[in-house]
Amino acid sequence: MSNDFGGLRDLYQEVIFDHNRNPRNFGELADATHHADGHNPLCGDQLTVYVQLKEGVVEKAMFIGHGCAISKASASLMTEAVKGKTVEEVESLFADMHAMLTEAHPEARDFGKLEVLSGVREFPARVKCATLAWHTLHNAITEARDTAKTE
Ligand code: ZN
Repeated sequence: MSNDFGGLRDLYQEVIFDHNRNPRNFGELADATHHADGHNPLCGDQLTVYVQLKEGVVEKAMFIGHGCAISKASASLMTEAVKGKTVEEVESLFADMHAMLTEAHPEARDFGKLEVLSGVREFPARVKCATLAWHTLHNAITEARDTAKTE
């Protein structure tokens, strides 16, 4: 594996392609305590995010839907990243993710696997694809009734 910039890019792309082809936690969560629908009209991405909360901790998160590779990979990575986190930790991670994707010089934080989405920053139109799952999860855990909007 190369450590140069291009090599890192290739690695990031590979992870995104992998999560798009084989999304993790894809399916309906039968014992979900919360769920919400999300729609990104700019791209046509459509997601439903299910979450099982127990005493304020995400026991499990799953999703269904269809959309572009970025939206599916982001949802897949998110369901893995939020497992075992408290609602407060999820909200904080969402805020930091949003900053990573939209700000030129986001605060340094270890995003782990989620770092692979950082390249999206260079493509503003795709930021909504990458954040859709997070907006939807946010709505699910705050028990928002409306469909998540990326605007
Ligand atoms: Zn999209």
